[in-house]
Amino acid sequence: MGIIQKKGIYLFEEFLDLGVYAGFTGREFSGKDAFADLKEVSLRLGFSFKRAVGLNQVHGNRVVSPDNDNDSLYTGDALLTQGKGVVLSVRTADCMPVFFYDESALSLGIIHLGWRPAKESVLDNFIDEFIKAAGKTPLGEVLLGIGPALRQCCFEVGGEFAEYSCFASAIEKRSGRYFLDMIKFLEDKLQRRGVKYALLDSGICSKCRKDFYSWRRDRTEKRTVSFVVNK
Ligand SMILES: [Zn+2]
Repeated sequence: MGIIQKKGIYLFEEFLDLGVYAGFTGREFSGKDAFADLKEVSLRLGFSFKRAVGLNQVHGNRVVSPDNDNDSLYTGDALLTQGKGVVLSVRTADCMPVFFYDESALSLGIIHLGWRPAKESVLDNFIDEFIKAAGKTPLGEVLLGIGPALRQCCFEVGGEFAEYSCFASAIEKRSGRYFLDMIKFLEDKLQRRGVKYALLDSGICSKCRKDFYSWRRDRTEKRTVSFVVNK
C-alpha cells in the first residue's frame, strides 16, 4: 500500500492495481488551470483520456454525474461517473480531496470535502448517488483515497464548531483551541451509513508539507488538482 510518485504526480497504488489512475499534482504543476494541469498529467503518464470534467466548486452539497451529457465544467462539489476514460477532478488548497472506487459497479467518484460541504451533507448525498449508480445495497468494499488536506495538526476552527452536531465526534480541544479531524468525520459517516471501505490515506497535511499548495499557509490562488479515471 502506498503512494507512488511519478514525474511530479502522486498516485494511489491500490487504485492503479485495478486499472484506475487516482492521484494529485504536486507543486511543480502550475495550479492555475485545472484542465491545463490535467492535460499535462495525461502527457506525463502517457495515456489519453476521452474527456476531462471539472467543477465550479461552490462549497455546497451538490453531486454531479456528467454521464448523460458532454460538458466539461459543472457547478457542484462532488462528481460521479461509470464511464471509462472520463477524468473527474477537483481543485483544493487545504480542503480534502476524497477519491472513491467501487469495483463491483465500476463507479468512480471524487469529492471536494471542505468543512462547509461536509456540514451541508455532501457526503450523504454522494453516498445516496453512489448506491443509486451501483443499483444495489450493500455496496462492495469501496476504495477510499485521501489526498493532501488540512489535518488535525493544522485544522484550527472557531469555537462555534463545537456546537455543530455533525462535527461533535471530530472536534478536539487543545489548550483552549479547537481542531477538526476531517478523517474522523468521514469515517464516522461511512460507518454510520454502512459503507465498507479500505482507507488509503496519503497522510499529507497541505499546510505542513510545503510541496503542496495551502491557502492557510500562503494565501495562494493556486490549487492542487486531484483526479480519478478508469483507464
Ligand atoms: Zn499540519
